[in-house]
Amino acid sequence: MQQRTPTRQVAIGDERTGIIRIGGGLPADHPMSDGSIIPAPVSVQTMTAGYTHDIDKCVAEIHKLTAAGADVVRVAVPEKKDTEALGEILKQTTVPIVADVHFHFKRALEAVEAGVHKIRLNPGNINDRAQVEQVIDACKDASIPIRIGVNEGSIIERKDKQARAKELGAFFSDNKHGYMLAIMIAKLEEYLDIFYERDFFDITISAKSMDASLVIDAYTEIAKRFPHPLHLGVTHAGPKETGCIRSVVALGTLLANGIGDTIRISYANDPIYEVEDGLELLYTLGLRERIGAELIACPTCGRIQVDLFSLVQDVNKKLEADIQVPMKVAVMGCVVNGPGEAEGADVAVFAGDRKGIIYVQGEKVATVPEDEILDRLLSECRTFQDRVRSGDAKLGEKKVDIVPPDPEGELGSGWEKMAHERMASGTTPLTIKGS
Ligand code: SF4
Repeated sequence: MQQRTPTRQVAIGDERTGIIRIGGGLPADHPMSDGSIIPAPVSVQTMTAGYTHDIDKCVAEIHKLTAAGADVVRVAVPEKKDTEALGEILKQTTVPIVADVHFHFKRALEAVEAGVHKIRLNPGNINDRAQVEQVIDACKDASIPIRIGVNEGSIIERKDKQARAKELGAFFSDNKHGYMLAIMIAKLEEYLDIFYERDFFDITISAKSMDASLVIDAYTEIAKRFPHPLHLGVTHAGPKETGCIRSVVALGTLLANGIGDTIRISYANDPIYEVEDGLELLYTLGLRERIGAELIACPTCGRIQVDLFSLVQDVNKKLEADIQVPMKVAVMGCVVNGPGEAEGADVAVFAGDRKGIIYVQGEKVATVPEDEILDRLLSECRTFQDRVRSGDAKLGEKKVDIVPPDPEGELGSGWEKMAHERMASGTTPLTIKGS
């Protein structure tokens, strides 16, 4: 992991929602420093999928996303009836809200008036200088930041595309995304000048594309040039199944390189998955402290003797509901490689011949039949959680090595016993391969 790229922090929220800070912090002597030098945690954003003017549904959706762990929620305000709903939505919700303004600067002014915590503008859609200046001044008066989104889909100048390609394409001639990168950066520079001229520096930047490699290149180039926090995302990433890969490849690469201050994973699906997967990405990279259990599970192979896939799904659901401390839980299919692969797990089960052997921090606590594995494992997880909370146990403290049980003993997978019996009876031995 590279060190976090320094960026000027912005703050969003109020006393009721709490303040979320976004940015890596700048050295105190940087001309744009706001005095914050300690990096703020990378935050997770998402966007409501329903109409903002449908107040009850919008509030319910924001509550659901907040409960799932969203740090910031964005709502679209394409029409006046949407900005008119904002006041009531803000009263009923407890998370910072960003108003996404697409085409009309007046929606931005109305959203600021309603008390929204941040505005998102797009230079491709609102480019009249006088209008942009009005929005900047309103946000400055309200002390709220603005996100500038130079996303691929909305910044291309279509009328004089060829002339622009000729003029700017050479800047990045060694890069296959040169043309688009040059456009993004040129637009950003032009737009930022308007903000700087009005002494407005509470800015975040996004440069999304549906092309993961362009996203990596665009944010990398922008991070070199501008000291503002970066809002990472792959736009129109598609269904969750493929969008997850696109997003994680691009965002994971950038974050591992120290680039990115807030993220939104976007799917053509319920936005709750955007929050869950965004958090999981940050946990995986060690950029956020995990809330709840981390489940480790084997992929299964020909040694499996229990219905492990169903067991893993059931364990996952129950852990989400019952466990809040960040314990590691391992569900392994056999005793051959399971113990080694589950090293460091706080609670682990190794399945075998229609049975499961359960360990808590390296100590064997039970051997149970297959249909009792789920309940016993969860019971041990809850007990361990209570011990951690009371100070009786520490997470990740392995007291005893997990010694694999004899594969031909009571837990033996069955294959080993059959092989042994065949050897003893003189029939052709079965071959047992490593996983
Ligand atoms: S060897 Fe055992 S632990 Fe490893 S994948 Fe196969 S069943 Fe799972």
